[in-house]
Amino acid sequence: MELNRRDFLKLSTSGVGAAVALSFLPDVTVLAAPREFPLKKKVKETSTICCYCSVGCGAIVTAYEDGIIKIDGDPDHPINEGALCPKGQAMSQIHQVDGMPNPYRLTKPLYRAPNSGDWEEKTWDWMIETIARRVKDTRDNNWNNLAGRTDALASLGGGELDNEECYLLAKMDRALGVVYLEHCARL
Ligand code: SF4
Repeated sequence: MELNRRDFLKLSTSGVGAAVALSFLPDVTVLAAPREFPLKKKVKETSTICCYCSVGCGAIVTAYEDGIIKIDGDPDHPINEGALCPKGQAMSQIHQVDGMPNPYRLTKPLYRAPNSGDWEEKTWDWMIETIARRVKDTRDNNWNNLAGRTDALASLGGGELDNEECYLLAKMDRALGVVYLEHCARL
């Protein structure tokens, strides 16, 4: 490349300028070093289904240790696409209220005997056996032989039941001869 005097002066000036400018720049190795932003809280996100009604909205629970930080609608869920109604938004209160464990949350089965005002703590085994015994006795004592059914029992489904559980519940109800079937969402 041929340079005339003018070009030579221009190149020299810009070269010196660049060198001067670079000398004021901080060390690029320092700039390129990764900076650390330690997380103070190791939060965990878990997807779940709202427990309140049969719409079955999807939610994401953000938790830290034993506490729930927040619950959001799951934007990837096809039913609610990120939205939650007020009940769904208040889901965390099942677990805690104002950051403290909910004192009213039931963690063990409670039983209130007929005509009693007191609740007694029972085991799950006792509960399941007692319920099964009473369902069987009620059915046998109130069986309509002509119609092949009983009018003494009714079945109430819940919003938390999934498809398979609903299928099994409906099967069991029909096998027992129960004809009054309802669901919490219709009440
Ligand atoms: S209670 Fe609200 S958030 Fe929960 S499933 Fe029903 S509509 Fe969705």
